[in-house]
Amino acid sequence: TRRAVVTGSASGIGKATAVLLQQQGVDVLGVDLKDADVCADLGTPDGRSAAVEAIGERGGLDVVVACAGITGANAAVPSVNFFGVVDLLTGLRPLLAAGNDPRAALISSVSSVHPTDEALVAACLAQHEVAARRRSEELLAEQAWALLYSSSKAALARWVRRAAITPEWAGAGIALNAVGPGVVLTPMSGELMNDPVMKPIMDAAVPMPLNGYAPAEAVAAPLAFLVSPANTHVTGQVLFVDGGAEATLRGDTI
Ligand code: NAD
Repeated sequence: TRRAVVTGSASGIGKATAVLLQQQGVDVLGVDLKDADVCADLGTPDGRSAAVEAIGERGGLDVVVACAGITGANAAVPSVNFFGVVDLLTGLRPLLAAGNDPRAALISSVSSVHPTDEALVAACLAQHEVAARRRSEELLAEQAWALLYSSSKAALARWVRRAAITPEWAGAGIALNAVGPGVVLTPMSGELMNDPVMKPIMDAAVPMPLNGYAPAEAVAAPLAFLVSPANTHVTGQVLFVDGGAEATLRGDTI
């Protein structure tokens, strides 16, 4: 039986992905703050190490899908969204390397193509969590909280491209990819969508000409493909699952 870890398994895209993988016969270990097989705070170094240890105790591992993430005016956004993903994947990499047809996937966002703060992106990619936290506090003081989210997701997209082709990942036979969702109807986006001020801002920032806002299952399906044994050659990619938002925003500038 194929063995997977799904973070953020208690809600939204992580929950839909865990359900779909289970339907495909995969043995799924869910990780979340609560209501999960492994309860851990991936926003802290201690929580990440505890999660890696608990996952290791179960034995082998073939798949990791990292979905846990947060948004909002919170200096912890890069700690959860970037370090909670990259440190966990790095910690689990040796287990994956010993697995069968190993695959990993994470969730970036269409907001990675929105304006970002290069200092915050650089602190993330330098794996400097203290500097990332400091820069986040500065941006919060400037009321620029949206940059925390977009920068954390842009850093993830760049990390995937860099890491995927290295001896540690490609050389160990591990495919490593991201999906970039547009607006997905989950508890995370529900708050924004129900806010009469935020909704028109979101509509303009994330235009989705194909089929509009997505259900979580629309993101789970491509994630399940990316981590399946059938995916032998897709790696280092961000697959936008966004109803055409990225194509609308970036046009030919790819
Ligand atoms: P959600 O809020 O429904 O689910 C996120 C899950 O992550 C929750 O169960 C939460 O408890 C868990 N989580 C949060 N912080 C954690 C922590 N410190 N440690 C462990 N678990 C933690 O949100 P969602 O919409 O399903 O989002 C899933 C991913 O998709 C996130 O990375 C999000 O940034 C990304 N995303 C969402 C949208 C959207 O429109 N919903 C769009 C683009 C990207």
